[in-house]
Amino acid sequence: MLIPDEAQMMALGHRLARALRWPLVIHLQGPLGAGKTTLVRALLRGLGHRGPVPSPTYTLVESYQSGGRRVHHFDLYRLADPEELELIGLRDYLDEEAVCLFEWPERGEGVLPRADLELRISPRGKGRELEVVVHTGEGEAVARDAGLQ
Ligand code: ADP
Ligand code: MG
Repeated sequence: MLIPDEAQMMALGHRLARALRWPLVIHLQGPLGAGKTTLVRALLRGLGHRGPVPSPTYTLVESYQSGGRRVHHFDLYRLADPEELELIGLRDYLDEEAVCLFEWPERGEGVLPRADLELRISPRGKGRELEVVVHTGEGEAVARDAGLQ
């Protein structure tokens, strides 16, 4: 589907927030500047988060709490080795029934959990093309409820 501008990307983030289920793993693919962080920011706003949403490029992960539920936003761009994920305690993040969003999931191949939902974003002129790949029933339900299918 075509996302013509940033406002539409934000709207999509809000729809995803309403459709979200816990726990869930979402992989966000696409080149630098595709809009992955923009989408996560809108999703967190949609969940009621009011503070800043920094890109976790250097920290690898930023965590948020919303109504007693947790969202972990990972950016693996700078990951040198997937093993590093074990050092930061990836298992603990996954064990707590959280929603985990991964930018650059390909850098954590072999260590990352399987995605329920994959969102692949590519630039198309001034807009973005979004390809949605579902891997589980939960992922399918979220994609459907967010109007992605
Ligand atoms: P990524 O996390 O994929 O590297 P960012 O979300 O940090 O990308 O940056 C995306 C940039 O592209 C932002 O500056 C945003 O304003 C701009 N942009 C332009 N059009 C769109 C669009 N349709 N969707 C998302 N971002 C867009
Ligand atoms: Mg980013």
